[in-house]
Amino acid sequence: MGDKSAIQWTDATWNPTTGCDRVSPGCAHCYALDLAARLQKMGVAGYERDGDPRTSGPGFGLTLHPDRLGIPLAWTRPRRIFVDSMSDLFHADVPDGFLMAVWKTMHDAPWHTFQVLTKRPERMAEWVARWVDVEGETNDPDRDRDPAAVRIAHPSGRGQLFADMLTQMGPPPAGFTYPRFAWLRYADGALPNVWLGTSVENARFKSRIESLRWTPAAVRFLSCEPLLGPLGELDLDGISWVIAGGESGSAHRPLDLGWVREIRDQCVEAGVAFFFKQVGGRTPKSGGRELDGRTWDEFPAPTERPASPSPAGQRAAFGRRRQWGGLAAMSRLAHASEAGR
Ligand code: SF4
Repeated sequence: MGDKSAIQWTDATWNPTTGCDRVSPGCAHCYALDLAARLQKMGVAGYERDGDPRTSGPGFGLTLHPDRLGIPLAWTRPRRIFVDSMSDLFHADVPDGFLMAVWKTMHDAPWHTFQVLTKRPERMAEWVARWVDVEGETNDPDRDRDPAAVRIAHPSGRGQLFADMLTQMGPPPAGFTYPRFAWLRYADGALPNVWLGTSVENARFKSRIESLRWTPAAVRFLSCEPLLGPLGELDLDGISWVIAGGESGSAHRPLDLGWVREIRDQCVEAGVAFFFKQVGGRTPKSGGRELDGRTWDEFPAPTERPASPSPAGQRAAFGRRRQWGGLAAMSRLAHASEAGR
């Protein structure tokens, strides 16, 4: 994780969770799974928990990192941030309330663009449907409601998720209040600075595109990487961006450039941005990045993005990050920042 990334289609990575379990053939040589084992051996914090050896591995047990929730708030220069390069945010073991805390960070840092990529788009569709449900909401000036009271005062999907988050945080320490939330900041639904994507490695998993298509999002994208077979005809309605690429590593499965051309041609015809990451091979650079004599580095049209925070906002963001150190501290931080308003 860091504020720089070698992944060509992003600027930085942020991992509020780490660890995962394999779900489909694209996971067979998961780089994150291998890297987690190495990081555990090196004693890097965050990789202590082992996953199920049948589907995961050493250091790759699903782990929540509430102490990392505030990190993007400290990055004041706008950047594209790949969320959970070492995990899958919509893994079944990530509680709804924790997802709300991640969404709240993205909501509170509108100067960044967050790229969320999952192989579990069915859960993402269900969760985001709750987030966009603000029926009956008003911006509530009350500042001090416990989860049970929030559940009654805010019966919308978003309100219930906020209550889930408060439950996850635990009760505030003496002298502090519960945080409040700008319920209707994005009343019309999806956060404009959050791109949602799903992986499609072969034709069998094209059904994931349907789940994604029905998920409210400013930008929906596909990652066809590692591409393991021809995808055939694609319905790109509602999709703004497609990434394709081959696998790298000693056991890489070779890429047929014909599969990539078929995707690219459909993107060109549909006016969808296309990004070709790599041919693949023993190393990520082995096969280069060209397709038919050129590179393909297209991105979706920029969504309207607020400017970087003001100096006062930057100071507040930094303060937030320093105090954010675990669920109890996260709770203190939210309460403290609330008290200071
Ligand atoms: S879903 Fe992603 S992070 Fe999880 S095992 Fe598969 S490739 Fe790795």
